[in-house]
Amino acid sequence: MTSHTKLSGGSHPPRARLDRIFHSLEGALGTGMVLSAKEVLETYAEDDSGFGAFQPDFVIRARNTQDVSIILKEASREGVPVVPRGGGTGRVGGALAVYGGIVLSLEKMNRITAIENENFLARVEPGMILEKFHQSIEEAGLFYPPDPSSLDSCSVGGNVACNAGGPRALKYGVTSNYVLGAEFVLPDGTILKTGRSTVKGGAGYELHKLIVGSEGTLGVITGITFKLVAKPSHIETALITFPTARAALQSSQDIMKSGILPRSLEFMDALSLAAARTKVPRQLPETAGGCLLVELDGSSADTLLEEMGRVAEICDKHGSGEALVAQDEAQRRDLWTVRREVAPALREMHPCRVSEDIVVPRAALAGIVDELQTTATKHGIKIAAFGHSGDGNIHVTVLYDEPTREAADAACTDTLRLAVKHGGTVAGEHGTGIQKVGALALEQSAELLEFQRGLKKYFDPAGIMNPGKVVAI
Ligand SMILES: Cc1cc2nc3c(=O)[nH]c(=O)nc-3n(C[C@H](O)[C@H](O)[C@H](O)COP(=O)(O)OP(=O)(O)OC[C@H]3O[C@@H](n4cnc5c(N)ncnc54)[C@H](O)[C@@H]3O)c2cc1C
Repeated sequence: MTSHTKLSGGSHPPRARLDRIFHSLEGALGTGMVLSAKEVLETYAEDDSGFGAFQPDFVIRARNTQDVSIILKEASREGVPVVPRGGGTGRVGGALAVYGGIVLSLEKMNRITAIENENFLARVEPGMILEKFHQSIEEAGLFYPPDPSSLDSCSVGGNVACNAGGPRALKYGVTSNYVLGAEFVLPDGTILKTGRSTVKGGAGYELHKLIVGSEGTLGVITGITFKLVAKPSHIETALITFPTARAALQSSQDIMKSGILPRSLEFMDALSLAAARTKVPRQLPETAGGCLLVELDGSSADTLLEEMGRVAEICDKHGSGEALVAQDEAQRRDLWTVRREVAPALREMHPCRVSEDIVVPRAALAGIVDELQTTATKHGIKIAAFGHSGDGNIHVTVLYDEPTREAADAACTDTLRLAVKHGGTVAGEHGTGIQKVGALALEQSAELLEFQRGLKKYFDPAGIMNPGKVVAI
């Protein structure tokens, strides 16, 4: 946590209220539905933010929308916090029960209810794991592009709640671009079906768009209608090393300027590569100061080969070194392992770390990554930078040890200020959670923050939905 991680807008409910809600929910949902065994509570106490354990008082694994409605209605009546939870892979503490109460897990609501090939859409429950969703959609001959690197364990509901991105967002956009409609349960238990099943529509407000990215603070997503696209028939992937991070990022920018639109354009600096090296069998050159993973897709193999040739020429101009080009699907996966293992490897190697997730205008990126190293030197800590260079979204991981904790905190503040100074944002694709609540003021006006607080109160007058997250009440 950093000094921008502010806990406000909630409190632990008193024991008497918890006892009452336990009995009323057991009565309404059935005996054994409201879990309170220590081992269960411990399992749901943490997420992937690394912010520590916050034990809820109860865990309920909803079976259907009706369960969710009953739970929220009762929780609103008793004033007991409810924390929706998908895969628990969130990086900003969104699924932590910081004020106790009920963790409402959607993991059992995990079915695809329809795939309509002719209409290019799928209807799915929120607890479905993204990778399984990808597989089912691709088996049906279609394609769902959003691909956060946590895809083997995050849920589609969590993706909608956080407006998840991922490497393919560069060409295809983020989760919000694929949500046509959503079933949503308000804190008072009302079930709303928002949005539509058509590609276009203008009936009323676009409420389903407001729900995307609301991080469980306005209600619970219980069903999603996703837009799908045609599956690209050809993919070309290359991992290209550079002597410096700047050379890699200048190449990234020049690729974008060339008119080629890769589906992914990923960057790793020297520290990120060093971390990845501990996890992957492939030999990555020790001397590389930066690296790009470039992936193109489309319907013509010849076009992709020609474009990859142009990418190589651009990189060559910036002094690129070794380039590994995947010859088959297994090699492609192998190259992606390098990128996907960066975050887990950094986590294992550096127990003390804070991850910031900033987005900056593309043209500023190379300069900002240089400035980050100046920040690291100034504070006597290390900073690893990696992420989606094509869309200016960089994950900045501040690595420290106990004696330099305060310096790391100051480095995080400098990082966020740097992003805002260059016209960027403090929160890219991971959301706000508890981590960025204080940081919003660096970017948004007092009026805008106040308006968002009012919106939250309108949706959730009892303040039960994921208190302490996104907006400070
Ligand atoms: C190794 C790793 C790599 C990652 N890479 C990426 C990446 O490339 N791109 C990216 O965008 N993110 C990435 N993430 C972050 C994370 O995986 C995403 O934010 C993901 O969308 C969270 O989904 P989840 O199911 O795990 O949600 P959870 O962690 O369970 O919850 C996240 C938030 O959503 C809310 N929520 C969950 N389900 C619902 C629901 N049904 N209704 C209402 N609210 C709900 C929770 O209350 C919480 O606020 C990464 C995380 C890890 C650990």
